[in-house]
Amino acid sequence: MSEAHLYTLGIDIGSTACKAVALRDGKEISGSSVIQTGTGTSGPGRVYEDVFRAAGLSLGEVSRVVVTGYGRLTFDRADNQISELSCHARGVHFLVPGARTIIDIGGQDAKALKLSPAGTLTGFVMNDKCAAGTGRFLDVMARVLEVGVEDLAELSARSTERVSISNVCTVFAESEVISQLAAGKTREDIAAGIHMSVANRVAGLARRVGIVPEVVITGGVAQNAGVVRAMNEILETPIIPAPLPQLTGALGAALFAYDEAIKLK
Ligand code: ADP
Repeated sequence: MSEAHLYTLGIDIGSTACKAVALRDGKEISGSSVIQTGTGTSGPGRVYEDVFRAAGLSLGEVSRVVVTGYGRLTFDRADNQISELSCHARGVHFLVPGARTIIDIGGQDAKALKLSPAGTLTGFVMNDKCAAGTGRFLDVMARVLEVGVEDLAELSARSTERVSISNVCTVFAESEVISQLAAGKTREDIAAGIHMSVANRVAGLARRVGIVPEVVITGGVAQNAGVVRAMNEILETPIIPAPLPQLTGALGAALFAYDEAIKLK
């Protein structure tokens, strides 16, 4: 049955997580995988094997594989590699065709991307020098608050009086959070302050690239509704969370792999 279809794979080797998408005929996701460890771990090998299982595919059924992400140059099972900026732009445009500004918050960096109405990448601004405004900041703070990063949003939703986190540096902000806890501030109010801190930092990037609606947030941190809420509040414009936000880079890579497979046919 699968002979009639053309399957491609997109693999995104991130700093914090490895993601993969299997695409059927350049249109439909037939399987995906997320492994929560990044480049330099067993994550790349595991995500590659897992996506075949998830899509029910064998090696011979896949026409082409494109790899993207921070660790893409160390992955040797792909036919081609493409930058994550291009892949996120492509993946988000596929899912939200009206997207003109993309805010991508990953585990170790944050980017704001500008797209033409046709979905071509026309500019970007990036922070990869500092953990503030990235998933790393949230992961560190979640540990201090003794919750999983996936539960931070729910915690902050119960906040009644947001605590302002004044330190930008992750190390100092961690000490500040510990002091606030010691001073009797609630975990809920501190979580709300943590989300606002990330949102403030990333909003600066978005303003530098220029905010044109529709504004879409993607990357693993887009799964954190607390950050999305805070971004909405600061930018005063609706922020659309990308569907499957942690997979948009891998999806873009699978779409590029499809274009290449068609050309080679
Ligand atoms: P990278 O591509 O740099 O490896 P990702 O885009 O995969 O990063 O994002 C990883 C970040 O996403 C983590 O640091 C974490 O903060 C966040 N994250 C991952 N899963 C969830 C979740 N279920 N809920 C909220 N945040 C999450």
